[in-house]
Amino acid sequence: MRRLIRQSFSKPSPPFKASIWGPFFCLLLMVAKVLYNTISTNEKGFYMYPKKLLDTYAGNLKIKKTQKLNGAVRIASLSMYPDDILCPWSKVANCRKLCLKSAGLGRLESVKDARIAKKDYYHEAPEMFLDQLRCELSNFIKVCKRNNVQPVARLNVFSDVAWERHQIPQEFSDLFMYDYTKTAHRLGKTPENYALMFSYSAEPEYQDSVRKALTTNVPLAVVFDQVPVGSMFLDREVIDGDQSDLLNVQAGPVVVGLKYKITEADQSDIDSSRFIVRAA
Ligand code: SF4
Repeated sequence: MRRLIRQSFSKPSPPFKASIWGPFFCLLLMVAKVLYNTISTNEKGFYMYPKKLLDTYAGNLKIKKTQKLNGAVRIASLSMYPDDILCPWSKVANCRKLCLKSAGLGRLESVKDARIAKKDYYHEAPEMFLDQLRCELSNFIKVCKRNNVQPVARLNVFSDVAWERHQIPQEFSDLFMYDYTKTAHRLGKTPENYALMFSYSAEPEYQDSVRKALTTNVPLAVVFDQVPVGSMFLDREVIDGDQSDLLNVQAGPVVVGLKYKITEADQSDIDSSRFIVRAA
């Protein structure tokens, strides 16, 4: 784990961050946003795009745990509400109802609305969204460096966006990024500072993706009703994945066992899903 993180620190600074125009550009962007927001509407009527995209205070329980266990790191996260575009494989993998989007604080309407607002912003004004994301990441990295901690980002807390296609990991090469994905063709194609874990489902139509993932050394994340730590699944050793995602993502060819958390799914959703593996 440390090796990858240190490598990402040793690279040259990205051009965006190095520019003296960075703060000026952020200010211009904010003014443009205020103007743009005055004409933004949705089915609920007038609304503002979110002022802040990133959570840099580890509001998510797993991120808090990961940050605590890994010492001098700080993790920024982006939580958007999933849909067919943000999670292109969620229908095939049949994971949407059981997704952690509705676990814990995700049950609160205000939290759900905030995630939906970020998702809408990404779809409706992608260039502005990405510019704001770049500004926030740039500021986050500066703060981390001032405090002598490694900046880390998880931008797909409830989504599966190929951030490498937006050049985000490439532009911020001193940031270490990690995510779970169901998009098998992304595996092995992300920059060195962006590590992925592949998320399993036993749905029949998803098995080509699973087979492809198993040909790589990428960790395979599997949701179990009870995590059978130490046993074998798909010829890989099962480890306890509920402690630290930074350890998980750099664990190599193992099964990262994650215990199913209560979500909005009812018992019939759970019974009919092949996203959760029954260990017994
Ligand atoms: S975030 Fe993951 S589990 Fe949730 S809907 Fe998207 S692909 Fe499925």
